[in-house]
Amino acid sequence: MKKKINLLIIASILGLIALSGIQGYLINNTYKLKKDAFINDTRRSISSIDDFSPALDSLSDLWRDTFLNTLADYKTGNANRNDILNNLQLVIDSINDAYKEEYQKELVKKNIPYGIKFHKKIRRIVLLDSVVNDTIFDFKKTPKHIVLGDTIPENDIIAVSTTSWETDHTSSKVIDGKTQEITFYILFVMQDAMDIAGWKKIVLKQMSGLLLLSIIIFIVVIGLLYYSIKNYITQKRIADIKTDFVNNITHELKTPLATLTLATKMLKKEEVKKSTVLVNNTVNTIERQNKRLQKLIDQVLNNSLGYQEIQLKKENVAIEDYINNILNDFQLAQKSENIAINRAFSIGKTHIIIDKFYITTALLNILENAIKYSKETVTINCNIDSNTSLKIAIQDNGIGISDKDKKQIFEKFFRAGDKEIHNVKGLGLGLYYTNQIIKAHKGTITIESKEGIGSTFILNIPFE
Ligand code: ADP
Repeated sequence: MKKKINLLIIASILGLIALSGIQGYLINNTYKLKKDAFINDTRRSISSIDDFSPALDSLSDLWRDTFLNTLADYKTGNANRNDILNNLQLVIDSINDAYKEEYQKELVKKNIPYGIKFHKKIRRIVLLDSVVNDTIFDFKKTPKHIVLGDTIPENDIIAVSTTSWETDHTSSKVIDGKTQEITFYILFVMQDAMDIAGWKKIVLKQMSGLLLLSIIIFIVVIGLLYYSIKNYITQKRIADIKTDFVNNITHELKTPLATLTLATKMLKKEEVKKSTVLVNNTVNTIERQNKRLQKLIDQVLNNSLGYQEIQLKKENVAIEDYINNILNDFQLAQKSENIAINRAFSIGKTHIIIDKFYITTALLNILENAIKYSKETVTINCNIDSNTSLKIAIQDNGIGISDKDKKQIFEKFFRAGDKEIHNVKGLGLGLYYTNQIIKAHKGTITIESKEGIGSTFILNIPFE
């Protein structure tokens, strides 16, 4: 049974892990799709900004003209590569603040509701020639950042587009007192990039419905699984307890029934019929067994009652006398001499309103168990305290009850210990019924016990 439940739990957990994995994978995919869609939308929204803004256009013209002019100087040998790049940097630095400001204005016009940083980075500058091209700048070889726009940390960069333009350019230069036309072809590669402030949060917010639903479904599945396994264990336990009960009661019924069969057979015999003594003895046996059967059936019927079904007939009872009588009668009924019953009273209130019959049954159940589940010599200590409520603690030195069994001890039909080694007769109804009687009196019953040492049952009945 335990093995089966463990397997069930392991299989469920594995199933749950697999399910979480698939769910995680799907959520991750959705996240990627949403992220791509969001970034593409933003790209589309900003892609035409610098083309359609006259202010940005004129700023771009400004640095381009300066740059082409320096390039003409390079062609004529009046400047080197470093001069070109330094001049480019200078002119970009001088217009950059204005560029950034204009760009932000354009973003506002586009109604983009989140912060965007944007820049254009120069990747390559190549002077084209029919013989051999002259690379002025290549970012891959010289990682110098020549950037128009915002500075964006490398890890946050989201590429927008790569643009390259090829053009020819003619500049007039005075060389040795003569004006000369300098014409050259150029390839210019630029990369536009952006950074969207808090884009992760924005994407996650867009997915919040899906995430919430997934979490709820996950919790519901775990809850259902937990509930099902718990239910399965409880059902299995109840089924086991019921099977035990059926076995116990069958065992209890077998003996009187067998005796009755035997007695009936005897009464049919001619020699028995002739002897009045034998007839009387057999009839007495039948009567005894009949009573035993009746008692068993009554026990099952009555002791199965729930506390709401118990009809109390309460009366005012003198606590000390009442309990002393029960203990004295119980002591007298014991055949063995190895039984000692001690008592100690701490009497506050002298009387209590209870149903004498039922409370007597409850106390006798506990006292009988103290003897049934005892070792060789039995010592029962009863402590009675009636100061704030009626507290009766009945302590024995018997076999004790394990912590695990303690939790179920008041359940209907429950019998502690290993079913196979039950050598004391019983139906597992006594403590259930005792608990119901105390509950009907609005009281409580608790148990303290140590295996091999003994148990203490504590009844607590409030004064009304
Ligand atoms: P029954 O005695 O008919 O089995 P009870 O309801 O009276 O049924 O008790 C339930 C179980 O609790 C018993 O089977 C026994 O294992 C355990 N038990 C009850 N009282 C004691 C006790 N004083 N010491 C040890 N075990 C006890």
